[in-house]
Order: sequence, then C-alpha cells, then structure tokens
Amino acid sequence: MGLIPYKNEEYLDWSDEANVAKMRAALKDVGGRLGKSHPAIIGGKPIETDGEIVSVNPADPSQIVGRTAAATEREADMALDVATGAFEHWSRTTPESRARILLRAAAIMKRRRFELLAWEVFEGGKPWNEADAQVAEGIDFLEYYAREMLRLKDGVEIYAIPGEESRYSYQPMGVGVIIAPWNFPTAILTGMSSAAIVTGNTIVMKPSEFTSVIGAVVAEIFEEAGLPEGVLNFLPGYGSDIGDYLVGDARTRFISFTGSMKTGLRINELAARQIENQRWVKRVIAEMGGKDAMVIDDSADLDSAAADIVKSAYGYSGQKCSAASRAILHADVYDEVLGKVLENARALKIGLPAEEDGATVNVGPVISEPQFEKVSGYVDAGKQEGDRVLGEDPGDPKNGYFVSPTIFAVEPDAKVAREEIFGPVLSVIKARDFDDALRLANDSPYGLTGGVYSKNRDHLERARREFKAGNVYFNRGITGALVGVQPFGGFGMSGTDSKAGGPDYLPLHMLARTVVERF
Ligand code: GLU
Repeated sequence: MGLIPYKNEEYLDWSDEANVAKMRAALKDVGGRLGKSHPAIIGGKPIETDGEIVSVNPADPSQIVGRTAAATEREADMALDVATGAFEHWSRTTPESRARILLRAAAIMKRRRFELLAWEVFEGGKPWNEADAQVAEGIDFLEYYAREMLRLKDGVEIYAIPGEESRYSYQPMGVGVIIAPWNFPTAILTGMSSAAIVTGNTIVMKPSEFTSVIGAVVAEIFEEAGLPEGVLNFLPGYGSDIGDYLVGDARTRFISFTGSMKTGLRINELAARQIENQRWVKRVIAEMGGKDAMVIDDSADLDSAAADIVKSAYGYSGQKCSAASRAILHADVYDEVLGKVLENARALKIGLPAEEDGATVNVGPVISEPQFEKVSGYVDAGKQEGDRVLGEDPGDPKNGYFVSPTIFAVEPDAKVAREEIFGPVLSVIKARDFDDALRLANDSPYGLTGGVYSKNRDHLERARREFKAGNVYFNRGITGALVGVQPFGGFGMSGTDSKAGGPDYLPLHMLARTVVERF
C-alpha cells in the first residue's frame, strides 16, 4: 500500500483569526445540539437502556451536554456475544483492509476537527489548545497504527537452521474490552480502540461515564469509516455496573485500560482468575497513574524550567497522568525558580472554555463533582502539611468545578507530594543537591513521566540511566507525548509498560506464532 510517510498532525494556530472564527462557529453549532440522547450500539443496532448517564459541562454543570444509555450486565452480555460472533469474520479480513478503515476514520476526524474540538470543550471542559492537541493525537493514533499494521502484517524477520524455513508472525487475539478514561476522551479512546481493531480483534468499547457523549461521536466516526457491524460495540455505562462483569467474563480475551491505579489493579486481579469455560490467560494492557517529578538543578536555564513546570503542571488543570505534580528544586536555585514559577502561574487565565474568547483561556474546570471534591480534599490536606504559596480555596461547585492553580511548599513525605491528585496542585520540594533530587524523584511507587532541567552533562547522563520512569524528558516539559515520536507509558504502579504510540504497542494485541517447515 502506498502512503505518505507518517507525520504528526499539526496543531491549530489560535493567533489565526480564521481558526478562531471556525471554532466559534463550531461551538455555536455543537452548542445547539446539546442534550440529545445516545443509545448503546451493539451489532450496529441502537440499544436503549432503562437507566441513563447524564453528562454535564464541567464549567457549567447546569448545562446538559447529552444523555447516553447506561448499560447493565444484560447489555454487556449482548455486546460480548456479538463481539465474539463478529470475531469469526473480522479476524479473517486482511490487515490492509483494516488499516484502510483507520485511515478513513483519520480523514473523517480531520474533516470534523472543529466539531470534535467543540465537544471536547463542552464535555471535557478543555481549553481550546488542549482540545486541539487531543484531537490531533487521535488522528495521529489512527495514521500511525494503520502504518504499524502494514509493517507487521507479514511478521518479523527471524533466523532459521539449514534446510528449514522459520516464520514468526502475528494473529488476532479475540474480544477486547476497552475501558477508556475521561481525560483524553477522543485521543485515548480512539488510540486504544483502533489498535485493537486494526490487529483483527473485535471490541466492547466503554467510554468514561463523564465523557460518554464524546464516546458516541468516536463510535459514530468508526461506523462512518466503514467498520462492519459488531466489530466495535459501543457500551456506555458506569464502571461500577459493568466493569467487573466485562473483565471477569470468559469471553473476554484481553482488557485495554487507561485510568486510576486502583481500578487498574482491580482489573488485573479479576482478569487473573480463571473461570469456567475460560480457555486463555487474559492479557491486561494497563496505563495507570503517576506522581511525576521535574528536577531542576543549579545549572539549568531557570526561565525555561519555570515556564515548563507551569505548563506541565496546569495543562488541562493537571488532569493528565503525565502532569508535573512535584517540582524538585536544587537548594541553591530554589527561591529563584519558585519565584519564576509563581510569576508564570499567576499569569494563567482561568475561565470558561466555551465562551467566545475561549482561545485565551489557559485553565478550565476539573472534570466532575467527585473530582472537584477529591482535589479540594487535597487542597485542605496540603494546607495542614505545608505552606500554600499559591491558590485559593475552591468555590461553590454549582458554579463550575473550578480549582485555581495551587502550589504547596512541602516536605517530600507530605501526602500532597506522594499521592496522585489529578488536579492543578503542584508540590514544590527542596533538594540538597542533584543526588538528593534524583533520589526524591525516584522515591515513588509510580514511574510514568519525569523531567530534568540541567546543563550538566554528567547529571543528564545519570538521569538517563537512573530516572525511574517510562518517559523521561530533558530540558523541556513532560506532558503531551507525540504519537510515533514519544511512545507513552510507564512502569511501577503506573502500568504494564505498554507504550501507546510506539512500535511495541500493536503486538500487545496479537498472538505471536512460530511456524517451522523442514524441506
Ligand atoms: N499521553 C499523555 C501525555 O503525554 C498523557 C496521557 C494520560 O494522561 O493518560 O501527556
């Protein structure tokens, strides 16, 4: 198949008035379509459920973005059944034909880009640049995994002994359960689903209950791209109602999950139990939390370091598992860096992303009332444990789930410096020297992202070897991994070291076979 070489989708330029005008028009258009109901789609058929999920705009919870079905075990059972049946056919299709569907879905996303951004703004509460990066990432996943499947379709080279041929190739696995997060509702849902589908599996796709309308839009795009009925079964629902059922069922072959550590460990445990009629060891691909640190040593460019700490800590209100939630500063530059971080953070504009001037908003709300309560709880804890050098007490959640950018100067053992908060809360920690800083950075059960700002080659080389994280970045921010360029995923309690957007990702969704013939 002839294709142009893979290239990341470019971000939109918001200083271009034409883009701002298109975005305003999309917000108006999508704004006029809020409140609609979206059924589950199983085997291509719309399925209504008794209950429903009501999805609201986190910047204005009185505004209903949409309603979706809330699946129960009954619909989960139907979806697993249909996916099992569809696997018979889909697993026999050619890799090329499957890749074409991803490429067509990417083309549709490109055409519907502003509309997708608008859904992100309404349902995710995302500032425009964050929404844009996310939709671009969704397109990248489709383009990249299509090419990856073409690279892997005939297997990979291995050796043979004289007189024999050895072949090493991949085949589809079976039914995958995709459990996606709310923080990248277009990108990660699209990425996890497309990887599973292009490798010849069928899926039950469960979006987060906080972003199930975007889930419905993503499912619709796959359908529009020509995916046959039953390959992707869209199953919005509450994790507490259907999560265990989907993971524990004997028909499930693998689970692809992105979300919290607690849920990831639960999935791992449930998946490990063998139940009646189960004929395989279920595979779990999990991307979980982080408590990501940026280390700034005494040789660093302090202006850039401070600017990147702020971007990494407060982009999408800190609700990325890659977000900087610990800044570990060398004692000799501590005051200066903290001063610059404060200056940058105070300049952030907090606001309503769906407004006309949304392009200028840097920080929107957190996703939901439970998240607002959780982050507020950590703000209270931080006030007891350390010095709050930035931030105000969160207001009334009825006016939107807003938490202002917050900084605590704390000791490394403070709860706010150890537990994942998933909000705009940064802990700043003083280190005696670089050794101490690296030790503190590594003193966490997580291992997702990390960064070092330094001009000292020895320090960088040491961190290159010793920083315990799946994605380590030097002299730059630590969020926004680019598909195909910065394969993303962590180890420790951050997950199974599955690298989304990397060359090892698709094989996680397939069974490798060795076939040998003697001549
Ligand atoms: N890949 C994203 C990044 O590099 C983070 C994904 C997540 O939060 O799950 O910022």
